[in-house]
Amino acid sequence: MRVLITGGAGFLGSHLADRLLAEGHSVIAMDNLITGNTDNIQHLIGRADFTFIRHDVTNYIYVGGQLDAVMHFASPASPIDYLKLPIQTLKVGALGTHNALGLALAKRARFLLASTSEVYGDPLVHPQREDYPGNVNTIGPRGVYDEAKRFAEALTMAYHRSHAVDTRIVRIFNTYGERMRLDDGRVVPNFIGQALRGEPLTVYGDGAQTRSFCYVSDLVEGIYRLLMLPPSDDASMPVNIGNPFEMSILEFAQIINEMTANGGGIEFRKMDRIEGDPQTRQPDITRATSLLNYAPVVDLREGLGRTIEYFRSRVGASLNPPQHAAS
Ligand code: UDP
Repeated sequence: MRVLITGGAGFLGSHLADRLLAEGHSVIAMDNLITGNTDNIQHLIGRADFTFIRHDVTNYIYVGGQLDAVMHFASPASPIDYLKLPIQTLKVGALGTHNALGLALAKRARFLLASTSEVYGDPLVHPQREDYPGNVNTIGPRGVYDEAKRFAEALTMAYHRSHAVDTRIVRIFNTYGERMRLDDGRVVPNFIGQALRGEPLTVYGDGAQTRSFCYVSDLVEGIYRLLMLPPSDDASMPVNIGNPFEMSILEFAQIINEMTANGGGIEFRKMDRIEGDPQTRQPDITRATSLLNYAPVVDLREGLGRTIEYFRSRVGASLNPPQHAAS
């Protein structure tokens, strides 16, 4: 297959590119690099089966030749990023999705939307199943991301129903791993960065809020299976992909401190908690299991171990400043 990945220089987009190339497909990665980084795809540049195009997909997307799939992963995705880039976030969810769907329709290509557990907002049911319509505050600070993704899902279903585009929607739950940005503000890079610098981990609120963390290779496996599924109306309905292993943010901080032997402790920062921060989040993956035979296989400590090593190599320089001999 010849596959376009929007957001192809991002954390998830670049891992998907690796996986598709490993399976023998060819990849066009498109990114405007506002939150993505070419470091993530540096190792692919120069390959005959890989192309990078710097482009903002909120503008008309031109790709020459045949395309078999369009995977729409472009979007700021960490709360810090989308609070800084609220209009770009809404535009890429709305205009970017429209352009990407229009391209899929024109090329008769399969379309896969990267949606999010954020469509469930601060959920009132637990765990979250795909048929739960969510509890989102349209005008809260997180609304710019949540509503962009909800609109993107609605538009995707409209193209499926009105234009018979073969569409897929994956609802991604908290995913972590190599190539996350150290400064993206999310809990995994924040805590690991702080721990590696020997600082206290900044737990927002009282840390009782929960998340369920999925290692990136498990997420990519689920998405790849969804992409490869034969077309059907069922295949076009949203699918949660994540790891249901849930814990509180406080417990998560304790694990990071233990794994990094950080003596910096924990600092509670009540004021830093963003309004509407979900109190609980856990995917119900029954549908992914029955549709895709999906199950996460990388356990938290194993995935965190790899991620810590990655961040250690990235922050190594600032952790060990060169020693200058006293003159
Ligand atoms: N969080 C925290 N300290 C940090 C960063 C985040 O306690 O330094 C909390 C945040 O309040 C949220 C959870 O960790 O409850 C996950 O936040 P993240 O930004 O990773 O993503 P979210 O799941 O909220 O989209």
